[in-house]
Amino acid sequence: MALEEIKEFDSELHDAMKQELSRQRKSIELIPSENFASARVLAASGSVLTNKYSEGYPGKRYYGGNEFIDKVERLAIERAKALFGVPHANVQPYSGSPANFAIYFSICNPGDTIMGQNLTDGGHLTHGWKTSMSGQIFKSVPYHVTQAGYIDIEEARSLAEANRPRLIWIGASAYPRALPFKEFSEIADSVGAYLVADISHIAGLVVAGMHESPAKYVHIIMTTTQKTMRGPRGAIIMATKKGLEKDPELADKIDKTVFPGMQGGPHDHTTAAMAIAFKEAMSQEFKDYAKQMLLNSKALAEAMKKRGFKLVTDGTDNHMVLVDLTNYGKGFGVFAQDALDSIGITVNKNTIPKDPSSPFYPSGIRMGTPAVTTRGMKEAQMSEIAELISMCISEVKDSKLPENKDERQEYLKSFKKSLEENKALENLREKVMALCERFPLYPGLEY
Ligand SMILES: *Cc1c(COP(=O)(O)O)cnc(C)c1O
Repeated sequence: MALEEIKEFDSELHDAMKQELSRQRKSIELIPSENFASARVLAASGSVLTNKYSEGYPGKRYYGGNEFIDKVERLAIERAKALFGVPHANVQPYSGSPANFAIYFSICNPGDTIMGQNLTDGGHLTHGWKTSMSGQIFKSVPYHVTQAGYIDIEEARSLAEANRPRLIWIGASAYPRALPFKEFSEIADSVGAYLVADISHIAGLVVAGMHESPAKYVHIIMTTTQKTMRGPRGAIIMATKKGLEKDPELADKIDKTVFPGMQGGPHDHTTAAMAIAFKEAMSQEFKDYAKQMLLNSKALAEAMKKRGFKLVTDGTDNHMVLVDLTNYGKGFGVFAQDALDSIGITVNKNTIPKDPSSPFYPSGIRMGTPAVTTRGMKEAQMSEIAELISMCISEVKDSKLPENKDERQEYLKSFKKSLEENKALENLREKVMALCERFPLYPGLEY
């Protein structure tokens, strides 16, 4: 239904939505935090559950008429607990960032010391970066990765001993290797800190057994549900058995911080979509998906290396590949992202360890396989994609970011213009479209 009605009522908006569906269909989506939710998840997200107010928790609401919403939320909670092997789950956080703030305010006071992986070393903004409120409300002591790109466990240990943080984060947005949960639990336990695993990126791998679970090592687990979990945009906060042993009131503190501490009414339509995504994640089909996502990531890494690209840590353990483009020049990630965009391959520019440039003009790109794997692509397509990337980047290899910051905008503008006029890129764009057509996305869906 619905889309027809939007079309008649608001053609301007309808056009934009139609174009977005077409963009998703006609491009190769390699941003590792993105995915394609199932039609079931989309249906629940766009359902009449959006109409309801249900502040509170199942059985304890501030509004009437919640008997069916209670059912929905209980399903989501029970499935989350079973999937992650934890005794407590709160499924109400609006997204990963507010969930992380709810965790801070459940166990920390303003001014407390916290530790997280530095943003430009692959960490997330909300783990204490200076432009996030998390870096302003708390005393942030970031840990880093080594020159080789691995989390510097020794540095984290000595920083923890010297600074005695209240909370330590383990989890990242741009880190291609397995997370050292066990090592971090030893560090956190030795200084009495809460250890929180933010598995937003790898949750789908964790539930499928393709990445070690943090459940027995950490006190709290947070994950978004829209990334490798392939669900709606939302997040869950879980207290582990270890967490409840450290603080028997932990579950209660988390619930009270989420509501009424930080949020009002939960997004019941999202909760329903989560319940579906969790049920999907329990299936053999999802396990196969996660396995293929990993095989694809390794195949993409090998195919890039074969074409002479340098990878951070020289490979991957998860769904993500970080390409170090410093040999093309400082800040080359910007050119790579724009050039790839112009042929319909979507990646994001990203800093690499000890980046000689800045987060806005970084020297690498981040790619991942969650979305292309959902489309049904396999190892052979990862080679095809690496070849397209390689040919595309060689078209723009001579672009150099001006040292003078005032000249950069102008240079980038003329760079973008040159992309439009490049016949070789046009040719690659057609190859990308042909590849996409072989792997239809949302067949039958019409906007
Ligand atoms: C994506 C992500 C988040 C934030 O999630 P949003 O839903 O975008 O707010 C938090 N932590 C990590 C590690 C992430 O990758």
